Amino acid sequence: MSGTGATRVWRKSGEATTRVHLGHGLSVGGGDFVVVAGPCAIESAEQLEKTSGAVKQAGAHALRGGAFKPRTSPYSFQGMGEPGLKLLAEQGSKLRLPVVSEILDAAQLPLMLDYVDVLQIGARNMQNFTLLRAVAKAGRPVLLKRGFGATLDEWLLAAEYLLDGGNDDVILCERGVRTFDTTLRNTLDLAGMAWVKEKSRLPVLVDPSHSTGVQSLVTPMALAAAAAGADGLLVEVHVNPAEALCDGRQALTPALFGGLMSALQGVLGATGRKLAHAEPLHAVGGTR
Ligand code: PEP
Ligand code: MN
Repeated sequence: MSGTGATRVWRKSGEATTRVHLGHGLSVGGGDFVVVAGPCAIESAEQLEKTSGAVKQAGAHALRGGAFKPRTSPYSFQGMGEPGLKLLAEQGSKLRLPVVSEILDAAQLPLMLDYVDVLQIGARNMQNFTLLRAVAKAGRPVLLKRGFGATLDEWLLAAEYLLDGGNDDVILCERGVRTFDTTLRNTLDLAGMAWVKEKSRLPVLVDPSHSTGVQSLVTPMALAAAAAGADGLLVEVHVNPAEALCDGRQALTPALFGGLMSALQGVLGATGRKLAHAEPLHAVGGTR
């Protein structure tokens, strides 16, 4: 990244990973592994409630759901908008989980700030510099996904916009890039993730859902990400993937997600790490 003037995103010699606080006592970057889970899109009160309860029960640390969806086709489901954000905030406070949702446009900022703990900037907006500048001033943690055509340098420079704009609470998320091979939805760049962990002080999540596009590959790639030193995961879960309005083929069922959470403990233990503490469902008044 020589000659670009970037200074804030790098890890100085011996510097610890920046710890980003998400709310409800949860932080990312402190060493313990954090799992952010939920449906690609918020579709209804019932779908969100069932999915949120299931991920909470399995030990997820934060809840993610899209209310504004950046769909490739204008005819695909675009998200519920504000009513969806409201449902997400309700589940977050009921289950005591920080909530994450994607912002598509700076004009949505006041609305988003009313409902979400963490602002997600999606792959398609990674280099939307006016959005980055606006979000930098919002005073809320940001989850910055890697653009599917972005180099590692470009990704870190996008993060630099947020840091330069006054927001130090930035979490990166590797979600796969587009390569010559179109067999899978994307190509998960785990080596790139590990390089970024070395070079940058920012915490990095891996998204095994968009990087594969295939349900059966989500758990193995999630475990590989944990073994390779990621700070956590962003993973799509749906109470009924066959009926999902968005990204159903890559969604884990609640049962598969539970299996992933158990398997993570073994992988993290083997590398001297552990899952972040998660308050059990019964402690927040859940029925199960
Ligand atoms: C998503 O997280 O649902 C999403 C649209 O991801 P990406 O921006 O990585 O494509
Ligand atoms: Mn999705």
